[in-house]
Amino acid sequence: MGGCGLLWGSVAARFCRAPAAFAVSRRPLLTSPPSRAFAKELFLGKIQKKEAFPFPEISRDELNEINQFVGPVEKFFTEEVDSRKIDQEGKIPDETLEKLKSLGLFGMQVPEEYGGLGLSNTMYARLGEVIGLDASIAVTLAAHQAIGLKGIILAGSKEQKARYLPRLASGEHVAAFCLTEPASGSDAASIRTRATLSADKRHYVLNGSKVWITNGGLASIFTVFAKTEVVDSDGSVKDKITAFIVERDFGGVTNGKPEDKMGIRGSNTCEVHFENTRVPVENVLGEVGGGFKVAMNILNSGRFSMGSTVAGMLKKLIGMAAEYACTRKQFNRSLSEFGLIQEKFALMAQKAYVMESMAYLTAAMLDAPGFPDCSIETAMVKVFSSEGAWTCVSEALQVFGGSGYVRDHPYERFLRDSRILLIFEGTNEILRMYIALTGLQHAGRILTARVKELKRGNVTTIMETISQRLRDSLGRTVDLGLTGKLGVVHPSLADGAHKLEENVYYFGRSVESLLLRFGKTIVEEQLVLKRVANVLINLYAMTAVLSRASRSIRLGLRDHDHEVLLANIFCSEAYHQNLFTLSQLDKHSPENLDELVKKVSQQILEKRAYICTHPLDRAS
Ligand SMILES: Cc1cc2nc3c(=O)[nH]c(=O)nc-3n(C[C@H](O)[C@H](O)[C@H](O)COP(=O)(O)OP(=O)(O)OC[C@H]3O[C@@H](n4cnc5c(N)ncnc54)[C@H](O)[C@@H]3O)c2cc1C
Repeated sequence: MGGCGLLWGSVAARFCRAPAAFAVSRRPLLTSPPSRAFAKELFLGKIQKKEAFPFPEISRDELNEINQFVGPVEKFFTEEVDSRKIDQEGKIPDETLEKLKSLGLFGMQVPEEYGGLGLSNTMYARLGEVIGLDASIAVTLAAHQAIGLKGIILAGSKEQKARYLPRLASGEHVAAFCLTEPASGSDAASIRTRATLSADKRHYVLNGSKVWITNGGLASIFTVFAKTEVVDSDGSVKDKITAFIVERDFGGVTNGKPEDKMGIRGSNTCEVHFENTRVPVENVLGEVGGGFKVAMNILNSGRFSMGSTVAGMLKKLIGMAAEYACTRKQFNRSLSEFGLIQEKFALMAQKAYVMESMAYLTAAMLDAPGFPDCSIETAMVKVFSSEGAWTCVSEALQVFGGSGYVRDHPYERFLRDSRILLIFEGTNEILRMYIALTGLQHAGRILTARVKELKRGNVTTIMETISQRLRDSLGRTVDLGLTGKLGVVHPSLADGAHKLEENVYYFGRSVESLLLRFGKTIVEEQLVLKRVANVLINLYAMTAVLSRASRSIRLGLRDHDHEVLLANIFCSEAYHQNLFTLSQLDKHSPENLDELVKKVSQQILEKRAYICTHPLDRAS
């Protein structure tokens, strides 16, 4: 336990996010609740009820305001956007881009004082549902504002905001985010692009190449991350990352030809090169040497919207697949009459419902006063919704049989388009490590303090510990207050609530024993960390659906019975998955298959080949 505070080690430098240090100027939601570290507390076996219950609600005025934005955008996407043409030609037509600009979609989260719509995260999520109907457009707009110009909103000075935001909000200027390099993808801290301060200290000279830059060929404003020399407090000189706002007009900025991609083909992805580009010192974004924090803040703040964007796409796909399943006949029956086809619709609806619930819960947390750190929550939404998208699009395609596989129909495009979601904005492997390690670090800190209290003889801590041990030995039902007198979950969802409480409690116990077992070496236990992340994602997802469905029942919303069904199915499945995963976490080698799995992969990777003898080969 003692070393838990050191859990992070060098990994911290790579994945860790400092608490939100930058103020975002945005249209506040009147009704958003305060928010504090919901996910981190799950690692301690606790549910911070007030952070997730009741499900966030907005006022009628706010709803009307959102709908005013959504209506025209929905009309435009339904009637005028030709996604097939965009995919085939690998380009978004200029007139489509112009219309997107005129709808204000290039400045959705830019504060109103700088000419943007100044949308809250909740409003942004709602518009994302519509924009997600065309993946190429969604990615283009996200690269422009969720990452390209976001740094200026989060960390820019007043002068930088006034200089750049108005023309970015109108779409006159397009933005791009330049972090990735040929030798530096997930390991963003290892970038080599360098910015050297000129002798007169008035500008930096930027040299280096970036790859996979969305909008790289369209952008005139780039948020660029480069290594700079920084003098530390002890006088030593170190290389640290600094963020810069770079204009194409500064000179020495070129881009390669657009990448020929599998999906999101209408978005523009290319290499961007900087050769002796002179960047004025006024264009440093945030602090010199503070660029890694800027990059992580940008990425962490944008991820949540993937949940609503994917849900928007899935809702459309479910409608199309249901229409087909009800009209196509085989064996003299509609496809919709077959259990194996029906099951796919239940799965798709369930995933869409869960990711939508997670996305709006997280958006409300981000909208809360005090700029809370929701980086674990946003990462969980990203992992769940990207994998949900991939699973559901594949299942929908299966409903269409052969018709799903040809380019005459859009379903194969949905499949190609959705694959990227697991790769960019932090790969799902990296995000799982981030989710697990951030929470374990938090738990380690608290538990270390508790051990100290025990040693000091603090009576309250001793009593808490004894009652916890007693409860474990008696196997009593866990009650974390979700139901009952002060309950927050509707009685018709009580079963799901009890399952969540039990999972959360035993997750806390598992975390404690993992920290004792591995100490700081847990950083190297990726298969363990993956399980920790998977349980946590399920716990957060269960919370989100229980909260949302409870609200729907309470308000008597249309079709709330259907929501209860989805919530119950999900909670039950997630509970059993969690039980299995928690039991795996408790196991040691060789009961646990991890050592065998590692051995197999080591043998393959040593030979760099599949190594079994061909089944037809003979010994002699
Ligand atoms: C279409 C597209 C658009 C993009 N847009 C942008 C953009 O606008 N700006 C920008 O800066 N970048 C952009 N990217 C880059 C993207 O963010 C990176 O591709 C991503 O971060 C992964 O980096 P990589 O491709 O180098 O893969 P690598 O980092 O080499 O990873 C390869 C595989 O190894 C895994 N892996 C790596 N490290 C670990 C580890 N420590 N533990 C376990 N597994 C690990 C990864 O998860 C992945 O599965 C874009 C990429 C694409 C394809």
